[in-house]
Amino acid sequence: MKIKQHFNSYDGKQSSSRLDFVYCPKCSTKLVKKEIDAFLRNYCSKCQYIQYINPLPGVSVLIEKDRKLLIGKRSQDSVESGKWCLPCGFVEHHESYLDAARREVFEETGLKVKITSLVNVSSNQINPNLHTIVTVLTAEVINGTLKPGDDLVELNWLYKNATFRGMAFEADKIIIKRYFENALIRIPIDPRFWLANQYEDKRHEK
Ligand SMILES: [Zn+2]
Repeated sequence: MKIKQHFNSYDGKQSSSRLDFVYCPKCSTKLVKKEIDAFLRNYCSKCQYIQYINPLPGVSVLIEKDRKLLIGKRSQDSVESGKWCLPCGFVEHHESYLDAARREVFEETGLKVKITSLVNVSSNQINPNLHTIVTVLTAEVINGTLKPGDDLVELNWLYKNATFRGMAFEADKIIIKRYFENALIRIPIDPRFWLANQYEDKRHEK
C-alpha cells in the first residue's frame, strides 16, 4: 500500500457556507464578503475583523500491543457514527499535539500511553464543513484499564490480516495497512515529551 497524505471525499472547492459567520464575533456588526488575499472572506467593515476559515488540527494514534492495534467504534453523535477508527481527536489551543494525543487516548480508551513516534500527517477533506490536518503517532501502553469513553462506544484489538470492515476514514485504513506491512517510517519523538505531564494526570484524577 502506497503512502498517502491527502484524502478528499468531496470536491474540495465546494463551498462551506455552514462555517461562515454572519455577525462579527468581536463587535456584532453584520459581516460582508470582501476579496482579501485572493479569496472572498467574511469581513467586518466596522472593526476590520476578517474571518479566516482554516482546517482543524487533529491527532490519531496507533496504540501497539503484541503486534495488535486498538480501534474504536464511533458514537452516535460523531461524524461517521457506528464506524470504526483509530483513537483520535482535536488539539486544544493550550496543548501540544503530543499532549492532545495522550489526552484523547486516555479519554477514549482509559489507557495511559507513551508516545513513541510520528508516522504521517494527512489532510482529510471529509465533507465541505470538516477539513482536518491529522498528525498520526504511535504509542505504547503504560497502564490503565481498557474502557471506551468520549467519542468511542466500543474498543477492539485489530490483528494482522483480520478481516475488518466499517472503518470510518480512508486515512486510517491506509496507515493501519502500512503498519501491518511494516512499512511505516518512524520519526522519533523528543524524549522529554514521551510521557504524560502533570496537567493530564491531575485532570483525570477522580
Ligand atoms: Zn467587527
